[in-house]
Amino acid sequence: MKAIRRFTVRPVLPGPLAPLNELARNLRWSWHPPTRELFRSVDPGRFEETGGDPLRLLGCVPPARLAELAAEDGFLARLAEAHQDLRGYLEGARWYQEQGAGQPAAIAYFSPEFGITAALPQYSGGLGILAGDHLKSASDLGVPLIGVGLLYRHGYFRQSLSREGWQQEHYPVLDPHELPLHLLRESDGSPALTVLALPGGRLLRARIWQAQVGRVPLLLLDSAVEENDRAAREVTDRLYGGGSEHRLLQEMLLGIGGVRAVRAYCRLTGHPAPEVFHTNEGHAGFLGLERLHEYTQARDGRPGADFGSALERVAAGTVFTTHTPVPAGIDRFETALVARHFGPEAELPGIETGHVLALGTETGEGADPGVFNMAVMGLRLARRANGVSQLHGRVSREMFAGLWPGFDAEEVPITSITNGVHAPTWTAPEVRALGARGIGAERVEEAVALGGPERAAAVGAVPGAELWELRRTLRTQLVGEVRRRLWDSWRERGASAAELGWIERVFDPGILTVGFARRVPSYKRLTLMLRDPDRLRALLLHPERPVQIVVAGKAHPADDGGKRLVQALVRFTDDPRVRERIVFLPDYGMAMAEKLYPGCDVWLNNPLRPLEACGTSGMKAALNGCLNLSVLDGWWDEWYEPDFGWAVPTADGDAADEDRRDDLEARALYELLERRVAPRFYERGPEGLPDRWIEMVRRTLTQLGPKVLAGRMVREYVTRLYAPAARAARAMDEDASRELAWFKGRLRAAWPQVAVEHVEASATSASAEVGSTLALRVGVRLGELGPDDVQVQALTGRVDSADRISSPTTVALKPLGGPDLDGRLRYEGPLTLDRTGPIGYTVRVLPAHRLLGGAAELGLVAWPSEGAGESGVLLR
Ligand SMILES: *Cc1c(COP(=O)(O)O)cnc(C)c1O
Repeated sequence: MKAIRRFTVRPVLPGPLAPLNELARNLRWSWHPPTRELFRSVDPGRFEETGGDPLRLLGCVPPARLAELAAEDGFLARLAEAHQDLRGYLEGARWYQEQGAGQPAAIAYFSPEFGITAALPQYSGGLGILAGDHLKSASDLGVPLIGVGLLYRHGYFRQSLSREGWQQEHYPVLDPHELPLHLLRESDGSPALTVLALPGGRLLRARIWQAQVGRVPLLLLDSAVEENDRAAREVTDRLYGGGSEHRLLQEMLLGIGGVRAVRAYCRLTGHPAPEVFHTNEGHAGFLGLERLHEYTQARDGRPGADFGSALERVAAGTVFTTHTPVPAGIDRFETALVARHFGPEAELPGIETGHVLALGTETGEGADPGVFNMAVMGLRLARRANGVSQLHGRVSREMFAGLWPGFDAEEVPITSITNGVHAPTWTAPEVRALGARGIGAERVEEAVALGGPERAAAVGAVPGAELWELRRTLRTQLVGEVRRRLWDSWRERGASAAELGWIERVFDPGILTVGFARRVPSYKRLTLMLRDPDRLRALLLHPERPVQIVVAGKAHPADDGGKRLVQALVRFTDDPRVRERIVFLPDYGMAMAEKLYPGCDVWLNNPLRPLEACGTSGMKAALNGCLNLSVLDGWWDEWYEPDFGWAVPTADGDAADEDRRDDLEARALYELLERRVAPRFYERGPEGLPDRWIEMVRRTLTQLGPKVLAGRMVREYVTRLYAPAARAARAMDEDASRELAWFKGRLRAAWPQVAVEHVEASATSASAEVGSTLALRVGVRLGELGPDDVQVQALTGRVDSADRISSPTTVALKPLGGPDLDGRLRYEGPLTLDRTGPIGYTVRVLPAHRLLGGAAELGLVAWPSEGAGESGVLLR
C-alpha cells in the first residue's frame, strides 16, 4: 500500500547531546573531519549506512544508544570541543575582517545548482560543485556571502545501467524535512513566501529553505507548496529538466524570486542588504531585472528612476561569471516566450517589455533576432564579467566581441579568474595528515585550507618511501571502492551473485591507475580512449606495464548521443578479456568523486580544446598527489608543468575535420601512456622506488596544490570584482546614475556624426629611429558633441603582416583651440617610438565621462576613415 502523506519524526536528543543538533545542521561538518569523526563515533555502522550524513544518522540511532552517550564523559568532552570549535569558527574575525573599511556589507551569490555535500544532492556537475566550493571558501575567509538557488524536489537524477549498458535515470523524492534545511519564517511563524505573477493571472509561490554552510546562509526556493496549482508546484521538480517554458520559469524564480527571497531574509534576520549581486552563469540573470524593477518603483514619496538610470545602478553592483564557450551551454529562449512572461499582465509590470527584450537581443555575427540570450543579458546587466581561466577569458572575449562592435577582442570587458577547489573538502584524510607532524595537529585544518609555504615545506620534507606508501594506500582503498560499486552495478543490471566471482579480481593495488570521470557532453569526449580498441586493450593488458582505468559520468537525460557514448564504453568494459582492468562506475557524484581523485595515479582529461572553460576535477586530483594527463585546456593550459604531469598534444588547427582530429589526439594519448606515463610509473631507482614519479607527486602537492585553491579564487573575486563593484554601486547614486544615463543617451544619438577625418605625423618616412618622437596632428568632427564628451587617443604598438596592432600603448591627445572653418577640431600630441621593429599607430575617439568604467563600456568608438592618413603613416 502507498502512504497518502509522509512525516518525518524527529529524534529527541537527551539534554547533554543537544549541541549535536547544531553540529548536524551546519554543513561545516562536510569539510571538518573532527566533527565527522564525532558523528561516526555515535554509531559507526549506521554512520556508514547513511552515507556519512549526520542528520539521517541522528534520525535512526536508537534512543538507548543516545542515552548511553549522554552519560559518557569522553563523548561529552569531545562534543563540547567540537561545539566550541564551531562557535569559534562562526564568530571569530577572519581574512575578510582584516581587509579594512569599505568592503561590501554583503554579497548575494546566485547559482542554479549547489554541490555542497552528497547529503544535499542539488547539483549536476562542475558548475554546482564550484558554487559549493565558493560558499565554503567564502565561509572560511569570513566573506559575507548569501547563496541563492532552487530546491529541486528530485535533485538531478541517479544513474544506473541496463543489462545492455544503456543509462537509466531515477528520480528519488527528496523530503526537505529530511535534509539539513530549515524554513525561513515570518515573525508570526508562517513560512515566508516569494510570489511571482504568471500570465493568465496565475501565481507562482515559493517557500524559502535555508541551509547553513559554515558562516554562509544558502537560500533555496521551493515551489512545491499547496497553494500553487499543479504546474506551478512542478517548477522546481528537477535540475535542468523539462522544456524551455519550464526552464524559463525556473530561471525567473531563481533570479526574480531569488532577489525577493534575499530581501525577505534580510528583513527577518537583520542581515545587511547585499551591495553586490553575483550571477554564477547566465541562468540567474533575471536577478538584474528584479533589481531594476526595484529602482523604478516610487519610494518614500520620491518617484522611481527611469529605466536607463536604474540600469546604471544595477549594472554597477552586478558581477557576471560566464562558464562556457559551448553555444549549447548558453540558455536561449524564444523572444515570444519571454515577452509573454513580462509586462502588465505578468512579471515586472513597471518595466516596458521592449526594454526587457532588448537586453537579451543578440548582436553581431550569427545573431538570431528571434532569440533571447541569457548570457548576452548577463553581460548587459553587469558592469563586471569574467571567464573562469585565462584561456576561457580570451575565448569569451572573442565569443562576445559582437556586443562591443568596433573594439578588438582584447578590449572586450571580460576578465578572468581561474577557478579553484575547496581543499578541506577535497583532500583525503591521509593526505591531510601528510606533513602534519611538521605543522602541529591543531593547525592542520588551516594549513590545508590555505596551502601556505609552511605546509609545502612540511610535505616537501616527507621521505619518498612514505609518499609512495601513501599512494599505495589510497590506490588500495580505491580498488575496494571500485569492486563494491561494480558489484552493486552488476546486481542492478540483473546479474546473480554466482556470476560475479570475477569482480574479486578487478583492479590491482600495484597497477598504474588512470581515472576519467565527468559529465558526458560530446566536447568532453568520453570515448576518445576507445578510438583504437586494440591499442587500448594492449595498454590494459601489457605484460610488464599494465594500466587500469576507472571511468564514470552521467549523460543528460535528454542527450541520447551522450547515452550512446556511455553504452559504447560500458560494452567495452563488459568484455571478459579486459573487464578486470577497465570499469565504468554508474552514478558519478560527490561521494564517488571523494574516493576517486585520491586513489588514481593519473587523472585524464581530453576535451576538444578550448571548450573546457576551466575544469576542476584535475585540480581536486592534484590536491591528493594524483598527476594530470590532459589536453592543454582550461586551468591546465595555465599551470601545466612537466613536473605536474603530461600535456596531450592537440590538433586545434584541424578543427574542421573532427574525425581526423580525434584520430590524431587519440594516437598522441596512447603514445604518451605507453612511452612516458607507464614507464615512469614502473621504473625503479636504487632503493626500489619510482623516484621520478614520487618527485612529480611531491611537486604536484607542494607547487601546484597551493595554486588550485578556492581560497585563492574567492580572494580574487573579493579584491578584483566584489570590492570594486561595491564602490561603483555606492558612487552610482540617484544623481550619478541619472547623469550617466543621460550622457549615454546623448552620446548614442550624436555618435554617427563623430569622425576622424585627418591624421598627420611630423615624420613621414616609413622608418624612424628608436627614441625619436613623432608629432601627431589629428582632425576630428564631433557633430553635436563637445571636446568634454570625448577622448581622442593615439595607439601605437607592434604590427603584424596585416598591419594589425597588438597590445598598444595609449596616449591621450590634447585639443587645440576651437573648431576650424569646416567645423573640425584639432588634436595634437607626441608619439614616442619606444621600440624597434615594425610598429604602427592609429587614433580613435571614445566617449569620456568620469562615471564610465572602461573604454568599451558604451560600445562606441570612431576610427579614422579611409584615406584620413598620409603617406608613410600606418593605419589600423
Ligand atoms: C569536480 C566535479 C565535477 C567537475 O569536473 P570537471 O572535470 O570540471 O568536469 C563534476 N562532478 C563532480 C561530482 C565533481 O566533484
